[in-house]
Amino acid sequence: MTEPHFFEAHHISSGYGTTQVLWDVDLEVSEGSTVALLGANGAGKSTLLRALMGLIPLWEGQVSFCGERIDRWDSNQRVRASISYMSEIGIFPQLNVEDNLRVGGTGLSSRDLKLALKQTWEEFPMFTQRRHLPAGSLSGGQRKLLGLAKALISRPRLLILDEPSSGLSPLLVREMIEMLALVRERHAVTILLAEQNAKVLDLADRVAILNGGAKGFDGPIDEFRAQTDIAAQFFGLSKSPTGSDQMNLLGPEDQQS
Ligand code: ATP
Repeated sequence: MTEPHFFEAHHISSGYGTTQVLWDVDLEVSEGSTVALLGANGAGKSTLLRALMGLIPLWEGQVSFCGERIDRWDSNQRVRASISYMSEIGIFPQLNVEDNLRVGGTGLSSRDLKLALKQTWEEFPMFTQRRHLPAGSLSGGQRKLLGLAKALISRPRLLILDEPSSGLSPLLVREMIEMLALVRERHAVTILLAEQNAKVLDLADRVAILNGGAKGFDGPIDEFRAQTDIAAQFFGLSKSPTGSDQMNLLGPEDQQS
């Protein structure tokens, strides 16, 4: 008998209005793994993540988490069940930094929220001095980090990230990936992330590809790398060096803290 996966979705179809975007998509995520969902612009990655989070209706299909069907749950119930989601924007620019974190911690008791905020200031010290600033005043890299902190504050077991590297320079992309690797270890969190950036492959155990809203390749990272035609299709087969190790996602000012 096959064990249920930590997170699994089967026969997912969804879309907007009468336009179908996803066609019979299956996706499985094992506990402790990092799965990269790849695909060209408009392939349906964001739509799939929204459907998995209950942010748009499922037309067909089932979603399970830890063996339990969750596809009839609303997105808040999924968050309470320890699935967290970071959209491509990730934050509310008009709210201040602390309020963004409080939104991420909705559902925690006031005691747990206080504790989680304290831990967040320790883990992301660059935000302690900026807690009352509008999130929209932060740099692009800081906004992405705040989005990550906001997604983490509810202490998820599964973190679903929509293009955490979008809009960042190549150097900042490298730093975001390093931060994700750190967070994954510290929080023992399983990660499903949609990306278009080849660098995320450094983080991934498994790759799933969406092509025109339908699933294509799905397999371990080594298999993906070995199938150079698929890798080339998505990333132009770049095996270039990963760039500088210098950490400047937060800017020189942040790094002093
Ligand atoms: P990208 O990386 O460019 O965001 P993606 O793979 O995430 O691409 P989606 O954003 O899921 O792709 O878009 C899939 C299709 O759904 C596209 O044709 C897009 O125009 C359409 N679409 C996305 N969001 C909406 C929406 N809110 N209303 C209507 N159509 C949408």
